[in-house]
Amino acid sequence: MFAEIDEKYKYDGNDLGAVYSKNSTVFKVWSPLAEDAAVLLYHKCTDEKPFRHMPMKKSREGVWSKVANGDLKGVYYTYQITHDSISYETIDIYAKASGVNGIMGMVVDLDETDPAGWDKQTRPELKSYTDAVIYELHVRDFSIDKSVNFCYKGRFLAFVEKGLVNEAGDSAGIDHIKELGVTHVQLMPCFDYATVDEADVHRPQFNWGYDPMNYNLPEGSYATNPYDGKVRIYEFKRLIQSLHNAGIGVIMDVVYNHTYATADSCFTKTFPKYYYRQWQDTEYYSNGSGCGNEVATERYMVRKYIVDSLCYWAKEYKIDGFRFDLMGLYDNETINIIYEKLHEINPNIIIYGEGWTGSDAAIPYEQRAMKLNARHVPHAGFFSDDFRDTVKGNNFENRDRGYVNGAPVNEDFVREVMCGRVAHPQIPNLNKYAWTDTPQQTVNYVEAHDNLTLWDKLSYTNPTDSIETRMQMDKMAAAMVFLSQGIPFIQAGQEFLRSKPLPGGAFDHNSYKSPDIINSLKWNRKTEYKNVCDYYKGLIALRKDHSAFRFPDRDSIGQNLTYFSKLPSRVVGFSLKGDDKLQEIIVFLNPNNYEINLFAFEKYNVYADGERAGTDILYTVEGDYKVAPYSIIVLGKPYPEPDTSEGDNTNT
Ligand code: CA
Repeated sequence: MFAEIDEKYKYDGNDLGAVYSKNSTVFKVWSPLAEDAAVLLYHKCTDEKPFRHMPMKKSREGVWSKVANGDLKGVYYTYQITHDSISYETIDIYAKASGVNGIMGMVVDLDETDPAGWDKQTRPELKSYTDAVIYELHVRDFSIDKSVNFCYKGRFLAFVEKGLVNEAGDSAGIDHIKELGVTHVQLMPCFDYATVDEADVHRPQFNWGYDPMNYNLPEGSYATNPYDGKVRIYEFKRLIQSLHNAGIGVIMDVVYNHTYATADSCFTKTFPKYYYRQWQDTEYYSNGSGCGNEVATERYMVRKYIVDSLCYWAKEYKIDGFRFDLMGLYDNETINIIYEKLHEINPNIIIYGEGWTGSDAAIPYEQRAMKLNARHVPHAGFFSDDFRDTVKGNNFENRDRGYVNGAPVNEDFVREVMCGRVAHPQIPNLNKYAWTDTPQQTVNYVEAHDNLTLWDKLSYTNPTDSIETRMQMDKMAAAMVFLSQGIPFIQAGQEFLRSKPLPGGAFDHNSYKSPDIINSLKWNRKTEYKNVCDYYKGLIALRKDHSAFRFPDRDSIGQNLTYFSKLPSRVVGFSLKGDDKLQEIIVFLNPNNYEINLFAFEKYNVYADGERAGTDILYTVEGDYKVAPYSIIVLGKPYPEPDTSEGDNTNT
């Protein structure tokens, strides 16, 4: 039925929603089967009754419209849409501003929401996705802990506060992120979500935000005033500007795969059933998200809606990238169109997502933007669960171990994940199982907001090992993230051993609505685990300093990354050539609980070991040298000095 609708009524205009000008505002909503539609205007977003009711007229393409004369800036509005003789009042699905709790749209003059200097900010370049270093962060977690005196605790504006320190005097907030050296911050949902009551934000409330309500406007509980639709827009732009001014790109976590409500959502009220997938020939909603529904990305006007929304964030808010929640629920073609359109707006854009679904979905397997279909969406990255589970053990089995924490993992699995999961001449099996042809599709990580933090996982897997040993395992896992081919990703606070302890000694593996005490970033840990934090910082600097850790394609990896054979048990080592600064880089990983002995035939500089990492030469090795338990070592050999003797002669 919806295929016929798409054929008959598709609309390509870029003017859906409320288009404001000083003299008039034009309201347009697409709903081809509706019997009637009207715009209702309100003075305040808390008013019970509209002050005006304006009937709309339907076009051939199914677009209802109304031109309202006069300056409507700051006026709140809803649509009243009639289906099967029942009238539903709903927010405009294209609303760019709203009142409290996202119930009413607001007519907004977007020029008034730009912070001073908005048009002048510089934005980070990204030649290859593998140049990105991604840091996943929740807006409230960032500033809600009592260890740092943020003025704007839990708000967007906390990101503009500089010069802040924790109780020991170590830098915190945006200064810390800048010093850490990450290139992009991935913000957990910042679009308007449903389950935090914006009218009651002084009561502590928490949600990750994977409960979408309005896709084209920011969440109100992060704003200093959730009632005035302009404030959240301005303040979110201040956050973005502040990160840009620190040289950091902003990636939005987007959740177009499902909506929080189904029967009462603005999608349903606007056009019942159209926006969601049903099981074939039934009335039943498919629930591939595990949250009650899944959005039908392949339908013409749904796809248009998602593409329009992403382009709006990229243009109006200068967003640098998007992380797609449950990307396996999107159809491939939509993801490819998304990349194309976003790339036209900003050639430095990065897109990636979760290459799986929440449960079975009403879209053929081969059309899903899943990890194993990566070749069909060549510009989208995928979280590498292979990497994650190889390094630390199965994500869903608390006590299952991986390479760094004591499991006898086959060395070939480690080699596979460290070369970006692309086919490699030295790993014959991988050539059959490589799910991608480019490291630009492989997001390497061991910790994200979902599931246990790495540090908590290590408590479960290695309860009898000392804290010091577990810290070595953590640092080794981090070294694997940052020294592998692909795109490195960490969760905020991972660099100071983030932990989510529950009363009674267990750890929270799904803190989506847990209190601040569990979710907040505990900034004092930065001092407590300074060695670990400095190690992460050093690894990031080392990665950024050397192109050989960031090869953009499979052939460069195949030609320049060579694995060593005949190494001590469980040890993996490789040589990197083709670097911009060093003639050769050598990396060894020792996951054993004992020191190993290696031999260098010539002199090498050491840039990282189990204790420290960075761009400075720590010491040199030649002949016998050792790699500590649960440790890595990074050796570098400089290019030969250019012969300057001729120049010397002419000077004398
Ligand atoms: Ca909200």
